[in-house]
Amino acid sequence: MTYDIIISGAGPAGSSAAIALSKKGFKVLLLDKEKFPRDKACGDGFGPKSLALFDDLGVYKKFEKENFEKSEYVIVSSPNGHKMRGKAPTADGLRDFGWVIPRKKADAILVDHAVDNGAELDEFRVVEPIIENGFVVGIKGRHDGNLVEKRGRMIIAADGVNSAIGRKMGMSLHLSQYREHMAIAARAYFKGAENLEGGIEIHYEKQNKSLR
Ligand SMILES: Cc1cc2nc3c(=O)[nH]c(=O)nc-3n(C[C@H](O)[C@H](O)[C@H](O)COP(=O)(O)OP(=O)(O)OC[C@H]3O[C@@H](n4cnc5c(N)ncnc54)[C@H](O)[C@@H]3O)c2cc1C
Repeated sequence: MTYDIIISGAGPAGSSAAIALSKKGFKVLLLDKEKFPRDKACGDGFGPKSLALFDDLGVYKKFEKENFEKSEYVIVSSPNGHKMRGKAPTADGLRDFGWVIPRKKADAILVDHAVDNGAELDEFRVVEPIIENGFVVGIKGRHDGNLVEKRGRMIIAADGVNSAIGRKMGMSLHLSQYREHMAIAARAYFKGAENLEGGIEIHYEKQNKSLR
């Protein structure tokens, strides 16, 4: 079977594309190596522009009924103690708040909405694009341990920072190639945190010399 569009990666980029294209009547195959709901290290902050995109995709109400934590401010502090507090902008008709939504839930809502709008979802680890006569005509990947081919008129690589397709097409660097700019993210959820001001807080610590 040939799909109109195959999307590699069902994070927010891939599933948003799947929703928009399925709504337009295209036959969309959405692939991810993980089974949803799956987690992703992230600050979980969705700003006013993301909420406007949820409107466009017709998924805002599905998020709204979950009563996620509202964030109305962004607070940034520097290692020497300076602190900046900014209200979410009200420009361009955007809402003056965002939400903090655990990615495990947010990404699953978007994936479900893509399926509700007609996209086909498959657990599939994309390995590389199929290139014929200079054109990408599909992708190869692993499904239930077997190497499988999927054919599409268009392929969208939304498989994140370490995109398998991007690397094969020479469009992204492997992480090991820019070590100097690499950082490690550790994310945890806490109960009973105190003295929070109802927003997203970003605090830069003094650099630990032993880590340089
Ligand atoms: C520590 C940290 C905090 C952040 N905090 C925020 C924040 O608060 N707010 C914000 O807006 N952004 C934040 N970001 C950025 C945000 O996480 C990314 O911009 C966003 O996840 C990118 O979405 P995406 O859909 O492009 O990719 P991803 O979310 O990375 O999704 C890629 C998908 O592709 C799948 N995939 C990967 N390889 C393959 C393969 N070979 N085959 C099939 N599937 C594959 C993965 O399983 C994944 O589901 C943060 C990032 C980090 C690291």
